[in-house]
Amino acid sequence: MGVSTKIKSPSGDASQKRKPEIRPAFRTGPRQRRGNPKSEIVIGVLAVQGAVEKHILMLERCGVRSIRVRFAEELDAVHGLVIPGGESTTVGKLMARYGLDKKIIERARAGMPILGTCTGMILLAKKIAGSEQHRLGLMDLTVLRNAFGRQVDSFEADLDVDVIGPPPFRGVFIRAPYAVDVNRKVEVLARYGDKIVLLREGNLLACAFHPELTDDTRIHEYFIGMVRRSVPTKRSSNPRD
Ligand code: GLN
Repeated sequence: MGVSTKIKSPSGDASQKRKPEIRPAFRTGPRQRRGNPKSEIVIGVLAVQGAVEKHILMLERCGVRSIRVRFAEELDAVHGLVIPGGESTTVGKLMARYGLDKKIIERARAGMPILGTCTGMILLAKKIAGSEQHRLGLMDLTVLRNAFGRQVDSFEADLDVDVIGPPPFRGVFIRAPYAVDVNRKVEVLARYGDKIVLLREGNLLACAFHPELTDDTRIHEYFIGMVRRSVPTKRSSNPRD
């Protein structure tokens, strides 16, 4: 993109008088039209267990600052949260042990967007078939864990996702869940065959596959859009304002 090279003699007094540089994030463009400049949102990645680093890299690629969230207080610094894949029984227990669950629920009810991938989707669901394990229970649906069966416990498939447009998104499924008994107010955004694998309920996005394991940033960008729109348009960097 056209970064200006027409700066004249940046030396001596002249450089002192130069206007402050305009940071690219402040320029208008399709992704910067609404909400705060890119540099002002921070997205947390829950880092108690699981596939954390690839989400951090993906968010960085999308130009968004991210932090690892291990303790409840760290949620105060974020405008949105990713709950990565891992082992849902372990993550659920650790969230409860560190008081993260209560705080995540409180922030989600106040509108903070959450992207739950795989284990994250399981923890977002109100019901987990055949299990009483810890969960956040924020989305009105039931999930089946390890739902694709042992023979195909890991596979890839092209998914049509209308909200991000063509081409299809390559879904990487690893011992993935899918959703059943989805309440009418939950939007189904993608299916694999007849299985529901991507859903949204207001500020919550649940994904049965691993979008962080591809080079395709579109699911993360869609989520970042949700986060950006949830942040007040005034120039505030405090998510609790
Ligand atoms: N099967 C795992 C569970 O039940 C989820 C797997 C994943 O997150 N990739 O938690």
